[in-house]
Amino acid sequence: MKLLFVSTPVGPLGSGLGGGVELSLYNIAREIIRRGHDLQIVAPAGSTWDDLPVMQISGNLQIIAQSLERQTPITMPCNPLLANMWDYVRQVENEYDLVVNFAYDWLPFYLTPFFKIPIAHFVSMGSLSDALDQIIVKISKQFPGTIGFYTPAQADTFPKLISPIYYLSSGIDLSLYQFCSQPKQQLAWLGRISPEKGLEDAFAVAESTNISLKVMGKIQDESYWQKIQQDYPNAPFEYLGFLSTKEMQQILGECKALIMTPRWVEAFGNVAIEALACGVPVISYSRGGPASIIKNNETGFLVKPDSVSGLIEATKRVEQINRQTCRDTAQKVFSLEVLGERFEKWFVDILNSRA
Ligand code: UDP
Repeated sequence: MKLLFVSTPVGPLGSGLGGGVELSLYNIAREIIRRGHDLQIVAPAGSTWDDLPVMQISGNLQIIAQSLERQTPITMPCNPLLANMWDYVRQVENEYDLVVNFAYDWLPFYLTPFFKIPIAHFVSMGSLSDALDQIIVKISKQFPGTIGFYTPAQADTFPKLISPIYYLSSGIDLSLYQFCSQPKQQLAWLGRISPEKGLEDAFAVAESTNISLKVMGKIQDESYWQKIQQDYPNAPFEYLGFLSTKEMQQILGECKALIMTPRWVEAFGNVAIEALACGVPVISYSRGGPASIIKNNETGFLVKPDSVSGLIEATKRVEQINRQTCRDTAQKVFSLEVLGERFEKWFVDILNSRA
């Protein structure tokens, strides 16, 4: 197949602004190329992935959907990057078999019927916007089978969609994550620092247990980050910045557990499988993607949503989890090969239904 992937318009690839969809796109792209398909990625200027074929497009970034109200009208900056990327797609569509949209935004769905080429839409977050919900439902009716999600829990946040719906989950290159059997007395928290991620609850765990919290990830909301530090002055923590996978997995592997504190229905939670790959148990609220990734009492603990005392209690008994079981689960369920098979089948199904 000749495939054109169109990236998220909220930040350059490699910046961390796009969150987990950046890693997902990277991994899907690598595996699709390994399987012998031709691939071109269209992405914002400033993207730093030199090992993959990236066509860089300039323009102003889209605002992240998580920071907007449900009823906020769709907005476009002047010289919009998102529109510029789709203008490029329009110019080259004849050279490809299929376009895959990774943007969580209204425009690519709206434009779908105007293109001759089939367009697959990978939806990377749960429902956040009425306008986006409406256009996703419309496209699922007009082009059945072209909408893909990470998990059923994520898809359930949207109004009823027309089947078939594709659940594509996620996967990582296990060779990039080292297994660590002997952790230090420290906990990890990973991700974009933004209110929907609930980092303050991990600070509460660190303060109560007096175990140092290693915080890694992009600061997306500086005032939120400052407020957490003021509210938990006695929490032992270290902020290490937004790290590369190589640096991140080294510190993550040495942690007793990864604490996940999503306030929203997390679509998937790539950080959960990255932790498992290092042999690190995951303690999370039992909601959204993490609830389908973590096997309670086997690869971590799922606690009552928003219960900080539940997180603290689980942290105290995390030694009960066998770290090798965590690594083995990642290897079996979340490998790149398994991920590539699912995406390839989705693409083939779309092309067959068009033919
Ligand atoms: N991440 C990273 N370096 C860091 C912290 C996080 O590369 O220092 C990446 C991590 O690998 C993951 C992403 O940030 O891919 C967070 O994605 P996740 O799916 O957990 O949440 P999202 O941001 O999509 O809500």
